[in-house]
Amino acid sequence: MQSPGNVCVQNGASNPSNGSTENGHGDSEAINNNADLINTVIVDQTNQDIVRLIGQYLSNEGLNRTAESLMDESGCRLDHPSAAKFRQHVMDGDWNKADHDLQELKPLLGEQLNLVEMKFLLLEQKYLEYLEDGRVLDALHVLRNELTPLQHNTSRVHQLSSYMMCSNTEELRSRTNWEGKGPNSRKCLMDRLQTFLPASVMLPPNRLLSLLHQALELQALRCKHHNTSLDIRLNTASLLTDHCCAKDSFPTHTVQILNDHCDEVWFCQFSPDGTKLATCSKDTNVIIWNVYPETCTISLKKTLEGHSYGAAYLAWNPDSIHLIACGPEESPEVWLWNVETEKCLKVSHSPDDVLTCCAWNKEGNKFVVGGIRGHFYQCDMEGSILDTWEGVRVNCLAYRADGKNVLASDTHHRIRSYNFEELSDHNVCRLQEEHPIMAFSVDKNDRLALINVATQGVHLWDLQDHCLVRRFQGVTQGHFTIHSTFGGHNQDFVASGSEDNQVYIWHVRNELPIATLSGHTRTVNCVAWNPVYHNIMVSVSDDCTIRVWGPKDKLPKPSVSSSNSTNSSNSNSWNEMVS
Ligand SMILES: [Zn+2]
Repeated sequence: MQSPGNVCVQNGASNPSNGSTENGHGDSEAINNNADLINTVIVDQTNQDIVRLIGQYLSNEGLNRTAESLMDESGCRLDHPSAAKFRQHVMDGDWNKADHDLQELKPLLGEQLNLVEMKFLLLEQKYLEYLEDGRVLDALHVLRNELTPLQHNTSRVHQLSSYMMCSNTEELRSRTNWEGKGPNSRKCLMDRLQTFLPASVMLPPNRLLSLLHQALELQALRCKHHNTSLDIRLNTASLLTDHCCAKDSFPTHTVQILNDHCDEVWFCQFSPDGTKLATCSKDTNVIIWNVYPETCTISLKKTLEGHSYGAAYLAWNPDSIHLIACGPEESPEVWLWNVETEKCLKVSHSPDDVLTCCAWNKEGNKFVVGGIRGHFYQCDMEGSILDTWEGVRVNCLAYRADGKNVLASDTHHRIRSYNFEELSDHNVCRLQEEHPIMAFSVDKNDRLALINVATQGVHLWDLQDHCLVRRFQGVTQGHFTIHSTFGGHNQDFVASGSEDNQVYIWHVRNELPIATLSGHTRTVNCVAWNPVYHNIMVSVSDDCTIRVWGPKDKLPKPSVSSSNSTNSSNSNSWNEMVS
């Protein structure tokens, strides 16, 4: 951006608050005196608007002479002459003249109410400035003889009168939240006054910059692979081309394939702090992995053994230290692990229990477990049952953000909310599918639920508006339990495993996938997206492997991949879908 300081400005220093110094020169009268320019007068409305935007920008940057030339040559004018005069008088604090200008502007204003409101704002500033100057009698005069007779916003008039009691400027400023007499507060006043004026009469402040800002926002919204916390702003983005994140930086490349499980891998989840990954398998082990964000890789930290039925599901405690692991279909036990000490607590209350799903509350001091035979408990950290719910057959659980209500999908293809404290259940969600719900998860805003529905695929529901928002396309979902996940910056993305051995990624706003990732050779049971390091994703499969997906620049270099030759073979095996 050009600095006004480098430019020769005819009338000295720039005055950002004064966007319309040159208005008078834009009068058609002035232009008509110059025969050479008559032919170049712009009559088309759009072009006039563009010229005005440029003129306002130049003027704000202190390039007043150029703005003046532009207005002269184009035959346009920045603001209506009366509006320009009004602005000047407000900025000068010449309240009587500003009030007179307001009468001139009256025919351009429309509703009478606006005029009264504008007058009120002017008088308010005048009153406060008198108070700050210690001109108490003048201030009182404004209050009694000018503000009060308007019979407008009487509560504000009462408030204003109470400021009379302020003993000094500091007190006045702090009580009024007003910047004090000077160009800043007058500029704020002018911005407020401007909102009552049609744009044809006076341009809104910094109009060109706000349009450009909107353009960047829209470009970021439309960017298919936008997975960054960096704001796309005017001072960081180029305006010369549209913003577009490179797809190479998206986690669609196989960085690692791990074969440490010796049977089907059923589930995976990153710890909330993003530093660890847990995977669970039919081989009866839960493996804890260290996560290395710099290389987008993981390495085995420890193996938690002894899940005799196999480990099919797990939930990390918010502390990223404890986790609960559940077994598959008929498993009566859940295991509460401390992954640092490897201390394990078996939670089981009866060999007849079936406990296959679990969730932690937000504080991490309680959890719920349940299963499809109707056992549904809330427990403390010792595994003791705090509350029991009789006869509810559940297959997936999630606490709401309030920490009291628990969402549970049941065998009637619905998700209901259960409050263990009041022992009340309600259909607050009114979330009813026509086919079995295999698994679901809730986004971090506690607003959206992502559901894998048997024979249907992945559905997105709004928990507040109780409606189905989107049916994501492409995925193959039969009757296997497949898990999907929210992920990426701002949880703008959704990913799911699939029975066609692929991983699907969608933008949350679009039903067509933005990427399908190949490499697994059997059903992909679960996908986990790192909640902190948004460029790491993991998938696990019946093919017994774990695949770590990262950006292209994290692909292993050929020279170091000799020990793991499978790494490079499938590294580019993803297809971009046309959407
Ligand atoms: Zn982007």
